Amino acid sequence: MTAVTKNIPSGSNLNAAQYFRYPEEIRDDFVKTDDIEFRDGSRVSAAEVWDYLTKVGPVKFPNLYDNSNLFTGRLSHDVTLPFTLKHNYLLMTMHERMTKARAQGHPIVFVQGGQSVDPYYAAGAVALRPASTGIWARRQKEGLTRTEDELEGQRDKQKAYNAISFEVCNSAGYEHIQEGNVPADMVAPYTALRCSDVSYGTEAHRHGPRKDQVKLLLVDYPLDHQKDKEWAIDYFASSLRRLTRAIDEHTGRTTTEEDLAREIKLHNEGRRLAVEIADLWWSAENPPTNGKDRRDLFQLGGMEVHGDPVASLSILREAKTHIEKRVAEHHKTQGVQDKAARLFVCGSCVFPNDFRCEEAGGIIVGNDNHWSDITTIVEESGEPYYELAKAVLSYPYEQPLKDRAAWTVEQIRKSRTDGVLFLYKWGCNTQSAIARLLVDEIKARTGKHTIIIEDDMTRTQTEQLQNRVNAFIEMVSY
Ligand code: SF4
Repeated sequence: MTAVTKNIPSGSNLNAAQYFRYPEEIRDDFVKTDDIEFRDGSRVSAAEVWDYLTKVGPVKFPNLYDNSNLFTGRLSHDVTLPFTLKHNYLLMTMHERMTKARAQGHPIVFVQGGQSVDPYYAAGAVALRPASTGIWARRQKEGLTRTEDELEGQRDKQKAYNAISFEVCNSAGYEHIQEGNVPADMVAPYTALRCSDVSYGTEAHRHGPRKDQVKLLLVDYPLDHQKDKEWAIDYFASSLRRLTRAIDEHTGRTTTEEDLAREIKLHNEGRRLAVEIADLWWSAENPPTNGKDRRDLFQLGGMEVHGDPVASLSILREAKTHIEKRVAEHHKTQGVQDKAARLFVCGSCVFPNDFRCEEAGGIIVGNDNHWSDITTIVEESGEPYYELAKAVLSYPYEQPLKDRAAWTVEQIRKSRTDGVLFLYKWGCNTQSAIARLLVDEIKARTGKHTIIIEDDMTRTQTEQLQNRVNAFIEMVSY
């Protein structure tokens, strides 16, 4: 199935040839697929999703329908995978959905990526990491071309450099809160080592313009062989209790252990589904999706990107049946070359352009960052705060180097990776410091080709990054 390029917003002076449209011939099959269910009990049918993506989306967000492969955020052309359409629908409706959730009494809490969000939802909040905060902020601006949208993003990041520090990697999530672009009620990330932006951002918030309106709470995360120390688990469990109590002060309700146990069960289903989908995907003769859809699918196991775990879970459940079918039928995915070089990405928050990698003969098959928390299943039978604390302190990404490397090597083997890239942002202090050590350890244990590349968050170096990645794909392919 190929994409067609037509349907530009009416009255626009945009060039029709550069815009993507979902082809009409897939409509009948798509509208027979499952509804999306939401946390508040409401549902949206596939027919409503279709109408949104073909009529509302192109007018509101022409930048997302820009068809250029130079744009990492362009829509996937794999239109026969219903997951991709529903995932895009959820991303496009972020502003309306989050505004509704807050009006229904769910406080918005800013967190960081790579952490479980079970306790936030158990207490009735919505937990959003910087990427989701950015999606919400950018969905408030309608009718922008891709260039206009990119400029908006640049402006946000420059403001954040001024407000926080020029030394940060700068995901701009905090800036949206300081500016009031998204109405957050609390800043409450785990203080895990993986992300140095947590320290810069929380410190900036402590004296920032919205410090009095937006409560700050640190979920203190002990370090250094933390998973093996009973006191550390007890301490982190008490931090989680403090977190739910602080959210309770907003909502006026009391979060019980049963609430947390129920939420853990729900999130465990998402984590298990993502792992099962990964096992299917990695074992397939041909990659059953392109790299972008793979990443979206695997990451959905964290159930936090859409700000509604029930909605994320509903599309993840349906996606698994489609992936099983594709694997059984030896499906070949449009845009992925035969015998593509399989790449594994280590490090936080940087991804090469999947479409460009596939043009160059590669495909990204996995990454360690967010996958670390998704693969950590929480024990459901014990006291929920203690079990959640024990799981969170055992995230492989947060462990001493040898342990982190051993887990990463296991993922590399399972995904049948040919080459390993460690990518980090300028200003990502922990990951930049650990890159050389981790990559040397991986190389010693697997003998795979490896490369380390630094990128910046300003998007001015995308060609520099891709140029090096493509050269690496060429090297791995021979
Ligand atoms: S790039 Fe590093 S410092 Fe920046 S948000 Fe990601 S993990 Fe945090």
